[in-house]
Amino acid sequence: MKINELFYSLQGEGFLAGVPSVFVRLAGCPLRCCWCDTAYAWRDTSGVDRTTEFILDAVNRWDTRHVVVTGGEPLVNEDWSPRAGLGGMLKAMKAAGKHITIETAGIVYVPSLACDLMSISPKLGNAFGNEAMDQARDMVTTRYAVRQLIDHYDYQLKFVVEGKEDLPEIEEVLKDVGGVRREKVVLMPQAKTRQELLDKSVEIAKLCEEHGYVLGQRLQVLLWEGRRGK
Ligand code: SF4
Repeated sequence: MKINELFYSLQGEGFLAGVPSVFVRLAGCPLRCCWCDTAYAWRDTSGVDRTTEFILDAVNRWDTRHVVVTGGEPLVNEDWSPRAGLGGMLKAMKAAGKHITIETAGIVYVPSLACDLMSISPKLGNAFGNEAMDQARDMVTTRYAVRQLIDHYDYQLKFVVEGKEDLPEIEEVLKDVGGVRREKVVLMPQAKTRQELLDKSVEIAKLCEEHGYVLGQRLQVLLWEGRRGK
């Protein structure tokens, strides 16, 4: 499997924000979000082939049971067979007592993964700045995969939000998906710098207060302004 990077840091987002975790970043993503902070992992070839043994060995070097499988987009990887490749790697991690979070945009449903938390971040229109992104937009507006993921895994739904103008689209997504508990929905300011994060946080906090969503941290921006490997 192609690993883009493997590093130890604090989880920056979601309900496990602040928890020391090992990040296993897989190569490849078919989306092209305009504010993506991991464009270096977009290409399928932007990684080095590693075995399960190599990855487990590396993960075990750090004293935490939390592992975050991220990307890119991990669920588009074709090597999810249960006995080999990534499926096998997750099973081996689980057997070693790890807590596994998978971070996904929710564009594909993959069943029967050893996963403790499916961290789904459906992309809104604010992620696609131009007409050329129509194809990607079609993919993200297919909510069937999100529904399947939340039916089969413990989950959180995270939305990257520019401001209150994104609210109708969020409500529409939740209506399409159906049955989502609001306390599982995290809104996070779109920001690349600490200042941008602070500037947008009050408006997003108000949205959360008014509509029953959770205001999400982005510690990787607050602490390190998205520095690679943090
Ligand atoms: S889905 Fe994630 S990795 Fe892919 S382009 Fe969007 S933000 Fe970047």
